[in-house]
Amino acid sequence: MSFRADSAEVIFVGIELLLGQTLDSNACFMSRQLAELGISTYRHTVVGDNPQRLEKAVRSALAENDLVVMTGGLGPTSDDVTAEVVAALAGLPLIKDKAVSDAIRSRYPDRSRHDFSSYPLVPQGAVVFKNERGTAPGSFVFLLEHGSQKAILMLPGPPDEMEPMFHASVRPFLETFSHHRFIHRYVRLFGIGESKAEERIRDLLENQKEVTIAPYASMKEVVIRVSQRLKEGDGTDLTHALVEELRERFGACVFEIGPRPLELVLLDLLAEKHLTIAFAESCTAGMALSTLADVPGSSASLLGGMVTYNDEMKRRLLGVAPQILSSAGAVSCPAAVAMAEGCLAKTGADLALSFTGIAGPGGGTPKTPVGTVWIACAREGESTVANKYHFPGDRIHVRTRAVYTGFDLLRRLLLGL
Ligand code: AMP
Ligand code: MG
Repeated sequence: MSFRADSAEVIFVGIELLLGQTLDSNACFMSRQLAELGISTYRHTVVGDNPQRLEKAVRSALAENDLVVMTGGLGPTSDDVTAEVVAALAGLPLIKDKAVSDAIRSRYPDRSRHDFSSYPLVPQGAVVFKNERGTAPGSFVFLLEHGSQKAILMLPGPPDEMEPMFHASVRPFLETFSHHRFIHRYVRLFGIGESKAEERIRDLLENQKEVTIAPYASMKEVVIRVSQRLKEGDGTDLTHALVEELRERFGACVFEIGPRPLELVLLDLLAEKHLTIAFAESCTAGMALSTLADVPGSSASLLGGMVTYNDEMKRRLLGVAPQILSSAGAVSCPAAVAMAEGCLAKTGADLALSFTGIAGPGGGTPKTPVGTVWIACAREGESTVANKYHFPGDRIHVRTRAVYTGFDLLRRLLLGL
């Protein structure tokens, strides 16, 4: 097959997207994935569950692109019209894929939730992608549009179904149609802001050649993506030198060269050193514990923790002395230290991390403004470390920054940085 997917349009189907009830997160995911495959996305379109308007959108997308990717509208209900519209456009009958319906039947034996008698249907001859998390399969069809070869890829709307399907089977399939090959590397930083990071690499940003770099920041990290587009037949990887340069410039701020987020890097480090951890959380209210618990296998190092939001709980669960709370206050160095040490003593963990601060918007004072957070780390047989931080932004920002700053503090302590 000589089909080449150089350009694409992505059509997102669903009235919920037009009404603003669902954030179109598939847009972000799909464009990133296509860019990594070297397929240029020229347009995003959002359409409701209306067959006429959907057909119009697909025709217009096909006229200008090799590939049309669609997400949504593949469910079993009557408002799900994507497969129908595409099959009619491609002149293909809709048929039941036996492997898919067998798989659904074995997963939903009672079939009481939906009538699966005429579902799921896919265009005849389509390449079908299994949905491990739901019922709607993905599918891919070729069609001729004004004499040129085009293709339509249909994927389910729910991101928790679509994304795993994409990674497991769609992406490797699409790679065979992409002209370009990319190498992408990711240098992940914590402890430096986006603008400071950019300043430090301004010369590199201004002199990009075959290897390009792009920083982007979230509450959890600054990531610098290093990319190289390989010419056909030429596989020389030039990204290593630049990655090394970045490692040198950012030193201890680099927590990962690769895909792992900070929580995973920290858990791997703890497992490697056979250390256990527990948390004493006030303003973060369990977010640190829950963030680590989101990682499969975290129980190897994660013991648990205490959410001690008010003074009484800090006293009762962590044994924080009343005079610390009455004199220094709950958001103070001695309180953070006592919380971490109390947590260490009560849980028997090797390490305990405490958070106490003011997430806002209320509760700030001139001495302790909103965004002030004390983080302490107590370690078996070593003196407790406590730092004061000021995080800008709203409540979710302050709490998230606090959690990741605590993780990074621990990473640096464990590595002696
Ligand atoms: P579907 O039944 O295939 O139309 O998918 C509907 C479900 O997927 C709904 O729960 C939507 O909230 C979700 N969904 C559909 N499209 C998107 C999108 N572009 N971004 C995020 N979620 C989506
Ligand atoms: Mg829908």
